[in-house]
Amino acid sequence: MNKTDIKSMTVTELQEMLKALGEPKFRAKQLFCWLQSGAESFDEMTNLPISLRNKLKENCYIAGVKIVKRFESKIDGTVKYVFSLFDGEYIESVFMKYEHGYTVCISTQVGCNMGCSFCASGLNGKVRDLTASEMLSQIMTAGKDNGVRISNVVMMGMGEPLDNFSNSVRFLQLVSAEEGLGIGLRHISLSTSGVVTGIEKLKEYNFPITLSVSLHAPNDKIRSSMMRVNKKWNIEALLKACRDYQKVTTRRISFEYALIDGVNDSDECAKELAHILKGIMCHVNLIPANPVKENSFKKPDKNKILAFKQRLISLGVNATVRRTLGADIDASCGQLRRRVKECDDNEKLR
Ligand code: SAH
Ligand code: SF4
Repeated sequence: MNKTDIKSMTVTELQEMLKALGEPKFRAKQLFCWLQSGAESFDEMTNLPISLRNKLKENCYIAGVKIVKRFESKIDGTVKYVFSLFDGEYIESVFMKYEHGYTVCISTQVGCNMGCSFCASGLNGKVRDLTASEMLSQIMTAGKDNGVRISNVVMMGMGEPLDNFSNSVRFLQLVSAEEGLGIGLRHISLSTSGVVTGIEKLKEYNFPITLSVSLHAPNDKIRSSMMRVNKKWNIEALLKACRDYQKVTTRRISFEYALIDGVNDSDECAKELAHILKGIMCHVNLIPANPVKENSFKKPDKNKILAFKQRLISLGVNATVRRTLGADIDASCGQLRRRVKECDDNEKLR
């Protein structure tokens, strides 16, 4: 497809494009408003002259995502989606209700190249990066499907956002634009497995987002056994990048720690974790690991999880256990897409 991805463009970029098409500058804002409020065709843009709409149709396309599967929790209203993209690829998103509003967890890539051992998203590597417009579309479609305004976003679905740096940054700029979805950067979390060069570049933007770092282990031996990325950037390098990031942004960092039975859940691990996090203003989010069909690990029992949390708190670390949403539609990150793909492949074989 050689057409321009118009929904990924900023107002300034639209102005330049319109100028090249011989159109007045003021149309850029009108166009931006349509695109960022979820318009699916140029014909909807009734305040634009038909001649302009025709030019746009010739040169541009409007990205979107289509609902392929929708699983709604009867317990808490959480909805998990499998969306399809223009090229037939699948991604996942989750819509969640919290006291403070509606949150969407978005994917940033189709698949993932980081290869963490506990995660279904990375099992077959990365297929491709998502564009900013495809990230925005997940929020728009989930909001529309549930008839609500989305107030919070977490970039914690499939993919490594800092391995798709420029599209992720573009997404952050577009999603927070007032004429668009207007979701404040303070209401957005970006989760990374620890791509140090990405954290260093992100720091320069000084976005008031929450940086979530998937730490999952208190030392290099355990972390390297679970996360390939640790062989490139070890814990020392990662925590140095976090400290530097915090110096610039002054934002509290959130560390994700997936508790896996017998791997990283001992009292010794809790003590070691508290020790390495000293001096970083942070919060530790404990996630009972979600079993993945392709792996053999389990989550620890409830008492072990609570004991781990209590140990961290007693050592002065701010820690909570992540609330499980949508327990009855349970399927961890990347698993739904695999299942839908498997069904497709079986269809093709038939
Ligand atoms: N690639 C980014 C963001 C997407 S993954 C990252 O790794 O941070 C979002 C979160 O889900 C990460 O903290 C990841 O470690 C966690 N995760 C992935 N698979 C999991 C599983 N099976 N159980 C618990 N957490 C998991
Ligand atoms: Fe990729 Fe994150 Fe899954 Fe690791 S946990 S494979 S970085 S999506």
